Amino acid sequence: MSTWRKAQELAAAQGIDALLVTPGADLRYLTGYVALPLERLTCLVLPSAGDPTLVVPALENKAAVASGVDVAIATWNETDDPYALVADLVGPATTIGLDDHMWASRVFALGAAIPGADQVLAGSLVQELRIRKDADEVEALRQAGLAIDRVHRRVHEWIRPGRTEREVGADIARAIIDEGHVTVDFVIVGSGPNGASPHHEVSDRVIQAGDPVVVDIGGTMPSGYCSDSTRNYLAGGTVPAEYAEAYAVLHEAQRVQREHARPGVTAESVDRIGRQIIADAGYGDLFIHRTGHGIGQETHEEPYIVEGNELLLEEGMAFSIEPGIYFDGRFGARIEDIAVCTADGLEVLNNTPRELVEL
Ligand code: ZN
Ligand code: ZN
Ligand code: ZN
Repeated sequence: MSTWRKAQELAAAQGIDALLVTPGADLRYLTGYVALPLERLTCLVLPSAGDPTLVVPALENKAAVASGVDVAIATWNETDDPYALVADLVGPATTIGLDDHMWASRVFALGAAIPGADQVLAGSLVQELRIRKDADEVEALRQAGLAIDRVHRRVHEWIRPGRTEREVGADIARAIIDEGHVTVDFVIVGSGPNGASPHHEVSDRVIQAGDPVVVDIGGTMPSGYCSDSTRNYLAGGTVPAEYAEAYAVLHEAQRVQREHARPGVTAESVDRIGRQIIADAGYGDLFIHRTGHGIGQETHEEPYIVEGNELLLEEGMAFSIEPGIYFDGRFGARIEDIAVCTADGLEVLNNTPRELVEL
């Protein structure tokens, strides 16, 4: 069944008369159309019964057709009112579901064009579908994992004392494309003290001998599915003793989390079991973020692996396991794999060595 049909069934069950979805990951998931978020309105009109229509500006018709969408397309010309067209397609309605990432200006314009209807957020409805990956999606994530692993296997060629993080990052970005991605989504090269900032990207800092370097990288494959993996490198010299001790604890915590995660356990329990090991070793205050995030056509989506998320993991749920320990002003370490729940266990999609890679 096409994904839009599944969304249509959910919408009907929830009493939503129509879903309106503008460019973004939900539109891509429902139709396969990767539309740019431009000022002219593109919007999928998906009624809870009957056929959907993709409303596109006339000048983007060819792009929409070329993307192979399996729904009818209605175009609007430069001086037409696209909101009136959407309202026409929706017809009489009492509840309209809007995608979570719709621009506020569009939310208001749609409210004015369809004045009788309540607007509700429909992001969670689409997430209900996106959170469980089918076999094709798992295979796409598997290929993404293999591609980013190939990049990590080459990182040793580029990290060395005397080079800047930015230079290393540029080499990594090229390799992300060379190894099969169509876009570079992020390149984090956190050397020495910059490794203690989990979302540091790159800087002009010159890598020093003995620096631990956090390398967290990801891109999007032609399939639309994303990769994301973190490994840690030592740029020559000797490992700082305190770093080595913390790294051993982190390595063990991440291993235990991988052993624990499976269908039937809660998302928060995966976080908790690793956090306990890190806290018992005295580093609890230095693990400053959740354990992980879901991944699919977006790098960060549900399920979030975090305290308070009592969601029971199920077959097909894909997420990162990425505990970290951060010594402010000195260095940091994070080990990150993407994994997907199988029927009775966990398939880990990143499999380069997790030990500190000493160069
Ligand atoms: Zn992150
Ligand atoms: Zn991640
Ligand atoms: Zn990452």
